[in-house]
Amino acid sequence: MACRHHRELDLPALAARLGPDHGALHADLVPRLRCAECGSKRIALTMLPPDVPTER
Ligand SMILES: [Zn+2]
Repeated sequence: MACRHHRELDLPALAARLGPDHGALHADLVPRLRCAECGSKRIALTMLPPDVPTER
């Protein structure tokens, strides 16, 4: 179970940190992220792309 904390991700900054070749996918990001509140690695990463149409 993921912890219940919620943080907004600065995806551009995160992408810059991980490098241009790194995928910005949930599966790519989650192993590298920790909850800033409790340090849990079992985070629920919710990404809401502002201008990417949702397919399916
Ligand atoms: Zn947490």
